[in-house]
Amino acid sequence: MSEMRLIVVGAAGRMGQALVRAVAAAEGVTLSGAVERAGSPHLGRDAGAVAGLEPLGVPISDDPLPLFAAADGVLDFTSPAATVQFAELAAQARIVHVVGTTGCSADDEAKIHAAARHAVVVKSGNMSLGVNLLAQLVRQAARALDAEFDIEVVEMHHRMKVDAPSGTALLLGEAAAAGRGVDLGAHSARGRDGHTGARRTGDIGFASLRGGTVVGDHTVVFAGPGERIELSHRAEDRSLFARGALRAALWGRGRKPGLYTMADVLGFSD
Ligand code: NAD
Repeated sequence: MSEMRLIVVGAAGRMGQALVRAVAAAEGVTLSGAVERAGSPHLGRDAGAVAGLEPLGVPISDDPLPLFAAADGVLDFTSPAATVQFAELAAQARIVHVVGTTGCSADDEAKIHAAARHAVVVKSGNMSLGVNLLAQLVRQAARALDAEFDIEVVEMHHRMKVDAPSGTALLLGEAAAAGRGVDLGAHSARGRDGHTGARRTGDIGFASLRGGTVVGDHTVVFAGPGERIELSHRAEDRSLFARGALRAALWGRGRKPGLYTMADVLGFSD
């Protein structure tokens, strides 16, 4: 098969730069475009140079339309508002849309879902192999342990992160809820502060720490009577998310339209 032509949107961002480096280093893919928001100081600059590489001959543009028309896929770690727009464009162009953006509202999710009727969308709050494996382990543990075991999801990220809890914490919470056979929305405790009263039995709790340059730490605690199980993952480097996103794009090529997750890509879904 010919090389897969990929666009990186948000190309000057932390993940965007990691994605540009991953595409440049990988076989079977080529960077066919790079997009940033209107007004970005990086417009017109070479995407490779912005990512700390030799120039790749791909200038960063704020006009996605012609780029989408001439690509096979788009790698998108931007913001919810931008991702919703890119989902529409990717659906029109019938190209694979890999979405790593977190913090999407229910309304955003519905729009992305609608776009997935026309194109392959792979969306995950965490693109790493390790976290998706962790989610499977959490699901199993939650299935095996009854509500005597309180479940708490603790995460820490760098000081620039704008949403909480992290998309990964929610993904792990969903896995725990699925293991227990309950709906996370009706069984979660977020942002405790002040006189909260005792813990409600069966709730899945979330706590977020922010500071420094932490790429992403997650622990799921199962706290039972007299014992505690902790399942953890620590991301050391953003390149692991970028490699996962590339794998998702290659997996999605030629597949039938629909909304998929990283668990599908990794063959973990049951
Ligand atoms: P960042 O702020 O460094 O980068 C986002 C980039 O998107 C910025 O350069 C911004 O200018 C650009 N952008 C915003 N609107 C745009 C638009 N309309 N068109 C083009 N570009 C636009 O943030 P980051 O740390 O790279 O994280 C980005 C997102 O990815 C966040 O939601 C984060 O939580 C998520 N993330 C997901 C994973 C995962 O594995 N799923 C891993 C890391 C980060």
